[in-house]
Amino acid sequence: MKKTPMLIIGGGPAGLSCAIQAASLGQSVTIVERSHSLGGQLVKQTHKFFGSEKQYASVRGFKIAELLIQEYEKYKDLIEVVLDATVTGLYPDKVCTIVQNGRYYKIKSEVIVVATGASEKFIAFENNDLPGIYGAGAVQTLMNQYGVLPGNKIVMVGSGNIGLIVSYQLMQAGVKVVSVLEAAPLIGGYLVHASKLRRLGVPIHTSKSILKANGSACVESIVIADLDDSWNPIPGTEETVEVDAVCVSVGLSPMHQLLSMVGARILFIPELGGWVPKVSECHETSVDNIFACGDLSGVEEASSAMVEGRLTGLFAARRLLGTIDNDESIHQDLISQLEGLRSGPFGKKTREGLLQMKEEGQC
Ligand SMILES: Cc1cc2nc3c(=O)[nH]c(=O)nc-3n(C[C@H](O)[C@H](O)[C@H](O)COP(=O)(O)OP(=O)(O)OC[C@H]3O[C@@H](n4cnc5c(N)ncnc54)[C@H](O)[C@@H]3O)c2cc1C
Repeated sequence: MKKTPMLIIGGGPAGLSCAIQAASLGQSVTIVERSHSLGGQLVKQTHKFFGSEKQYASVRGFKIAELLIQEYEKYKDLIEVVLDATVTGLYPDKVCTIVQNGRYYKIKSEVIVVATGASEKFIAFENNDLPGIYGAGAVQTLMNQYGVLPGNKIVMVGSGNIGLIVSYQLMQAGVKVVSVLEAAPLIGGYLVHASKLRRLGVPIHTSKSILKANGSACVESIVIADLDDSWNPIPGTEETVEVDAVCVSVGLSPMHQLLSMVGARILFIPELGGWVPKVSECHETSVDNIFACGDLSGVEEASSAMVEGRLTGLFAARRLLGTIDNDESIHQDLISQLEGLRSGPFGKKTREGLLQMKEEGQC
């Protein structure tokens, strides 16, 4: 069985930053990534990011992935990357089972960092499995990575940042976005993204959602309706809209399955995206020497995923190396970056979620 001192599952912004931080301190690590490239969600994001200079503000998502990969290349001697490899199991003796190109094998590690990110949520409506109905991640992958349009006339369901950003990207690509539907009474994402869409003439309807899709081989139209305060459709408000695609962007769920499997304590904290592992301030789960970071430990943004990844890389390396030069100053810098990212009204939900996590006591 292959052995490595530190294994990172997932090579997105969190996992990659974790590896870079640990390697910069002299720790050798192995990243196992199920995709054919590093970068996670970043590789499909064509818009410029917010945040501060340290988190690459004003740089496009896929460029941030390239910058992280360049940084990783400086530590190539210490970071082993295994691509096209999916971790299918995580066991208490710190053994992971891996499937890579049809080959099945195991890796054992002293310290494991799980950074598997989040998966898209979906909603129930009649015919929601018709071809032409996508999640926002699929739309981004098709359009931004492969240059394929998902349709010509689309309705976006969900007005969080992802729904708004992807709607704007669809318009840039020449797709007609008929409208954005939001079940809540308020738009979920940043006003700046909503305003860009409205300037292009895209209406954002609040308290409205999709009831059903019509079509035989693919979507031909959808039925939408107004919702009451309990999100029930109001009879008589139904309206049929002709579209050939629907994009559903209704949030993300942390991918905690490997941690559930290893017996880590999992909590339900809606403010962090739902079921999340209980982690300590060192990002260690309730299982000794197994850490978690990024969207998996609370859905936020790539900027915070990168900082959390570095912080977890510091703690995990500290576990293996013992004393680390400049340990406290690196720690303080990362903590203050996270505090900055989580300050203000848009960080409120995360702050509340993290407080609930803390109130749950020790792991
Ligand atoms: C449309 C859209 C727009 C966004 N815009 C912004 C923005 O403007 N600013 C911002 O800061 N953030 C933005 N985000 C959020 C950001 O992309 C995520 O918060 C960030 O990517 C989370 O990083 P992560 O490393 O935790 O997870 P991911 O990026 O999801 O990476 C997880 C990695 O783990 C791998 N993996 C999962 N399971 C396994 C397994 N079992 N075995 C091996 N590998 C596995 C995945 O393939 C993936 O590469 C946006 C997201 C979307 C979808």
